[in-house]
Amino acid sequence: MSATDIVIGLEVHIQLTNLKTKLFCSCNSDYRGKEQNTLVCPICLGLPGSLPVINQKAIEFGIRLALALNCKINDEFWFFRKNYFYPDLPKGFQISQYNKAGGKAFGDGGKILIRIDGKRKELSLNRIHLEEDPARLVHKGSIASSPYTLVDYNRSGITLIEIVSEPVINSPAEAREFLNQLKSIVQYTGIADLELEGSVRVDANISIKGHPRSEVKNINSFKEVERALNWEIQRQRNLIKREQELIQETRHWDDKRRITIGLRTKEFEKDYRYFPEQDLVPINIEGPFIERIKDELPEMPNARMKRFQKQYELSEFDSEILVLDKNIADFFEEGIKLDNSYGSKEYKLFCNWLMGDISRWLNDNNKNIKDTKLKPIQVKDIIHFIKEGKITGKIAKTFVDDMMKGLPIKDIIKKTGKLRIADKEILSKIVKEVIDENQDIVKDYKGNPRALESLIGKCMKKTKGQADPKITRDLILSYIKD
Ligand SMILES: [Zn+2]
Repeated sequence: MSATDIVIGLEVHIQLTNLKTKLFCSCNSDYRGKEQNTLVCPICLGLPGSLPVINQKAIEFGIRLALALNCKINDEFWFFRKNYFYPDLPKGFQISQYNKAGGKAFGDGGKILIRIDGKRKELSLNRIHLEEDPARLVHKGSIASSPYTLVDYNRSGITLIEIVSEPVINSPAEAREFLNQLKSIVQYTGIADLELEGSVRVDANISIKGHPRSEVKNINSFKEVERALNWEIQRQRNLIKREQELIQETRHWDDKRRITIGLRTKEFEKDYRYFPEQDLVPINIEGPFIERIKDELPEMPNARMKRFQKQYELSEFDSEILVLDKNIADFFEEGIKLDNSYGSKEYKLFCNWLMGDISRWLNDNNKNIKDTKLKPIQVKDIIHFIKEGKITGKIAKTFVDDMMKGLPIKDIIKKTGKLRIADKEILSKIVKEVIDENQDIVKDYKGNPRALESLIGKCMKKTKGQADPKITRDLILSYIKD
């Protein structure tokens, strides 16, 4: 069974966290960290007689995303009621969109470009649509073992946008790349901050070709998706291997035990008894409104990548990674403007710092660059001091922790006392010591030129990385060649 036997479709629910109010009422939508059930009104509590009113800004945000994803925007549509009974839904229905029975999605089609194994692949979208978020259910421990469930209606009525892919994703790694690109596009459109906890929920349809699919619900972070997909694919393969029958079902991803659990056999669309929401008028979006939003839309990651290649002579690979996180790309462009003598060589050095030591530090510490005190001028200074010969690249690498705390490079040098040693007298003394102490390596050098690197390494160790590598190499060679 090959990887192409895997068929995955994703439904990604994103909260439009940059909206100030909810989708159909004027309650504050910034519910995180607030006391439970304080950001509510008759509309989002679903009290009888209350009437929803559409949030125009939510329509605007939807248009931004539709444009960025190349969807066809439906300029006339109405909302539908999706009926189901659950404590997170006080009205007994969710106001959503429906692309059947005369209904239309917010946007049809669209695509996301990914790179997988060095190759580009275009993943098609089916549609995007707007809907309201249900309330938040709080369980004690896991959903299966909790003795009770608490309901917080602060989340009820928050705006969600759902992005539905076609079933064209062929591996968990492709799904990860799809989500990385989607996250980047959402960040550039400015409609949501997906770093916020609970801002993202993913449902994944997974099958092995020729077998029924399962739907894994409520994967609560992008990071969990790849893990959940890997587990579910393995589960299905094991059943097929044992010649057991797979059933079409809905499963729950348990992120603590890292397994999927069968919840219920799949419900069908007819169970939701979709019908038009009569309390809201049809939505008409006028052309000039879309045009205005199009004009105001910032440069998207793909266009920025192409510009970086052209303007800064960076490779496609470098540009692509650099633009993925808008904060890092902005940092880069701010930094390189600080020195107008910069050319393609310095652009590449600046890019290397961001993609190398700084990104590594951010990953290790699970932080975004904007949450640190790092400033573009520090990266500019460190490149300058290395170029000037004041410090070596090796010393510079040991500065990263202090840089992230916002310390100016001059102060770090003063604090650590680490400067490049280029004085030939001092270095000669160290080189002689190393040669005396390592006669076996010196002998080895006659038949093995690579032993030289080992001697340079020993000099570096003695000077804590401060020895100038080129002068050290020349000095060692001058001694051991005799
Ligand atoms: Zn409300």
